[in-house]
Amino acid sequence: MTAKRLDGKALGQTMRAEVAARAAARAAAGKRPPGLAAVLVGDNPASHVYVRNKRKACADAGLASWLHHLPADTSQSHLLGLIHELNTNPDVHGILVQLPLPKQIDEGAVIRAVHPSKDVDCFHPENVGLLLAGHPRFYPCTPHGVFQLLVRNGIDPAGKEVVVVGRSNIVGKPLAAMLMQKRTAANPAGGDATVTVAHTRTRDLAAVCRRAEVLVAAAGVPRVITPEMVAPGAVVVDVGTNSVDGKLVGDVHEGVAGVAAALSPVPGGVGPMTITMLLVNTLRAAGQIDG
Ligand code: NAP
Repeated sequence: MTAKRLDGKALGQTMRAEVAARAAARAAAGKRPPGLAAVLVGDNPASHVYVRNKRKACADAGLASWLHHLPADTSQSHLLGLIHELNTNPDVHGILVQLPLPKQIDEGAVIRAVHPSKDVDCFHPENVGLLLAGHPRFYPCTPHGVFQLLVRNGIDPAGKEVVVVGRSNIVGKPLAAMLMQKRTAANPAGGDATVTVAHTRTRDLAAVCRRAEVLVAAAGVPRVITPEMVAPGAVVVDVGTNSVDGKLVGDVHEGVAGVAAALSPVPGGVGPMTITMLLVNTLRAAGQIDG
């Protein structure tokens, strides 16, 4: 079997065109463009690339964006002051603080400082709570990207055995929460799946993974999911982005393509979908704030 490719680059382009059309309709109605303020502290090269790609995606879709680049020795109070300004700036609908932050800054304090209505990453505890309660204000970008990559390829997780490898606050935990929830009008990305979450304390990871009809790898360990861990015909989504000898590789071994029915590539799978979902959230924030 050679797995169908779950092409996040192509789907991301399609969904970005949908965002662009809706942004154009807002402009035609005389509304201000959805605007994203990106905050970057320090000179982490990977963070620079992420922010550049996000801003380019905004520009391509007709969204406004601004970069606030602060030096690595910025104090927490200075950063909180900037976030307060952005919270009250009517041109800004979404605020993205690129993580990680330098060690003198408390990430939790910064996440809590972003106004929940502009928290397009969906990291603020209020928005995490709303998500968990089944009334999301936003969906977090990477988990939502995974969900869209599945359903728009005709793979509905409803009723299926899903295994998520990883339980981080950014990927595994919110993805598991979304996939196990009841799908309702208020929660259209509820997965209605039967979800198992695996992590470093999981006994016999291979056996747990083989139970999956849909397996999502978000461990951050290169090629940790090998062909023997995948049930023939399963769908596999690879969230991992690991640099190995200067090359980007996922958490899923290449050989899994010979076992799975469908597999997302790295690069070109979940990565472009994550950026696309940031645009979706910025558009949504503009609608919620400005109407
Ligand atoms: P993280 O915070 O390091 O969390 C990794 C999770 O995987 C932890 O819960 C950990 O378990 C678990 N884990 C690690 N090794 C394992 C193993 N051998 N077996 C079972 N579980 C294991 O990472 P993250 O932020 O969630 O990111 C995960 C990966 O996704 C990274 O490669 C990251 O770069 C990538 N990522 C990609 C995107 C994208 O847009 N494509 C976005 C975000 C992240 P414990 O909790 O027990 O330690």
